[in-house]
Amino acid sequence: ILDISKLQKSYGATHVLKDINVQIDEGDFLVLVGPSGCGKSTLLNCIAGLEPITGGSIHIGGRDMTHVSPKDRDIAMVFQSYALYPTMSVAKNITFGMKVRGVDQATQEAKLADVARQLQIEKLLNRRPGQLSGGQRQRVAMGRALVRDPKLFLFDEPLSNLDAKLRVEMRSEIKKLHHSMNASIVYVTHDQIEAMTLATKIVVLKDGVVQQIGSPSEIYNKPANLFVADFMGSPA
Ligand code: ATP
Ligand code: MG
Repeated sequence: ILDISKLQKSYGATHVLKDINVQIDEGDFLVLVGPSGCGKSTLLNCIAGLEPITGGSIHIGGRDMTHVSPKDRDIAMVFQSYALYPTMSVAKNITFGMKVRGVDQATQEAKLADVARQLQIEKLLNRRPGQLSGGQRQRVAMGRALVRDPKLFLFDEPLSNLDAKLRVEMRSEIKKLHHSMNASIVYVTHDQIEAMTLATKIVVLKDGVVQQIGSPSEIYNKPANLFVADFMGSPA
């Protein structure tokens, strides 16, 4: 479903992503890990089409999307800093995209009810984003992505603002969602446990270079180098 080939990305003289080659199959849950500043968010932005790439290509669903605009990529993204519409209610924030795409009212309401239940935000639907906690806002941002039903989801540390208990709950919720959805996921996290429990495939990135791609058990038990072993906390 997603084929990233020889991707290069520079900001001016700063070479951020260096020859990235990653394939994702249908139903894959790919988790991207690596130290702060290694290029994780940049890679998601390139996949979403929010940043032009400097070299290489990105195919989605077999089509060359390298120069296709973000809105035509059939991707939903939940950002590290979720941008909600401040003047709209939670319900409107979630349904707005469907309205724009001409989804009928009954379907909008059904989908809203569905994700509100899954994300436990039923009681918050009439509030504005300013009246929510960080974690609640994060769940609304996730709801907005979920109702889009895309082929590909991009998540940039979607649970980073939640407390430990809610994070564990949401983690299993995301796992369930992944099983019930017919979609593939690219998911960025700093949390090794999150990576190990959610991923079908893990990509370890350092300074914009892929260190290893493999299943959670391959990465943990057969780290390609000392960096990966250290980063994933593999047994010595
Ligand atoms: P974190 O875990 O802290 O979120 P990250 O892996 O997501 O880090 P990126 O945000 O992708 O890191 O940034 C990668 C590098 O690119 C960093 O050195 C950053 O300073 C640089 N960078 C990111 N965005 C820009 C930009 N718009 N212009 C110039 N440099 C940028
Ligand atoms: Mg980031």
